[in-house]
Amino acid sequence: MFNSLEGHGVIVTGAGKGIGRGIAKRFGAVGCRVLVVARTQSDAQAVASEIIAAGGTARACTADVRDAADNAAMVKAALEAFGRVDVLCANAGIFPSARLGAMTEQDFDSVMDTNLKGMFLSVSACLPTMKNARRGRIVLTSSITGPITGYPGWAHYGASKAAQLGFMRTAAIELAPFNITVNAVLPGNIATEGLDGLGADYIRSMEASVPMGRLGNVMDIANAALFFATEEAAYVTGQSLVIDGGQVLPESVAALDAIRG
Ligand code: NAP
Repeated sequence: MFNSLEGHGVIVTGAGKGIGRGIAKRFGAVGCRVLVVARTQSDAQAVASEIIAAGGTARACTADVRDAADNAAMVKAALEAFGRVDVLCANAGIFPSARLGAMTEQDFDSVMDTNLKGMFLSVSACLPTMKNARRGRIVLTSSITGPITGYPGWAHYGASKAAQLGFMRTAAIELAPFNITVNAVLPGNIATEGLDGLGADYIRSMEASVPMGRLGNVMDIANAALFFATEEAAYVTGQSLVIDGGQVLPESVAALDAIRG
C-alpha cells in the first residue's frame, strides 16, 4: 500500500528505551537505516543490535539532546554512516512529577530543557542537510498531556508538550518550501519503562480511563510516526495525531461506566 522507505536515513532521539526504541525498531523493520540516539551508550547499542539482529541497519549514538554540539555530532554521525538524513523523530523526553508550590525553578527548567529546547536543537541540527536535499520528515513526540488534558504534577511537562505543537505549526510553514514536513504524535498512556516508574496504582487507574481498556504499546505510536514519514503523507504538515485508545473522549466517568455495564 505504501511506497518503500528502504534505505532512508532516520534519526530517533530518546531511542534507548520505550517509545523511541519502538520507533527505531519499526523504521528498521521497513529497511530504513536508523541512528539510535540516547544518553546511555549501552541502551543505544542494545537497540541498534536488536535492529541489526532482525536484519536491519542501525548505529548507536550517544548524545544529550540538551546540548547543541551533541545534536550536531548526532547528525554528522548519521551522515557519515548513511549518507543522508531523511527523517528525524524528535522523541527524547522526561516526565518527572512536581505539584505547584513544590515545583522548583530547576524542575521547570529541566523539563523545558529536554522536552522543548532539546527538540528545537535536534530539529535545528537536521535542517541544513534536509534543506539541501529539499526533502525531510520531522516527527515530534508530544503527548495528550498539555495539548488536550492535564494531570496533577505535570504543569511543566504539559506546558512543554503543548509548546512543542506551537513550535511545530510555525516550523511547518517555514519548512514547507523545502518539502520538509513537521508533524506530531500525541501518545496517551503507553506501556514503557518510563511509565513503569510511575507505579502500579497509576497504571491501573490509566487502564480504567481508556475506553479500549488497555494502555497503548510502543508500536501503536511507532506506526503513526512511520505514516508521517511516508511519501503518501507528503502533503500532511503541521498536524498532530492522537494515539490513545480513546482516552481523551469520555465527557465523564459516567461515559466509561456506560460502556462497561
Ligand atoms: P522512557 O521510557 O523514559 O525513555 C526515554 C528515552 O529518552 C530514554 O532512552 C532516555 O535515555 C532518553 N532521554 C531522556 N533524556 C534525554 C536527553 N536529554 N538526551 C537524549 N536522550 C534522552 O520514556 P517514554 O515513555 O518512551 O517517552 C518517550 C517520549 O514519549 C517522551 O517525549 C514522552 O514525553 C513521550 N510520551 C510518553 C508517554 C507514555 O505514556 N510513555 C505518553 C505521552 C508522551 P537516556 O536517559 O539514556 O538518554
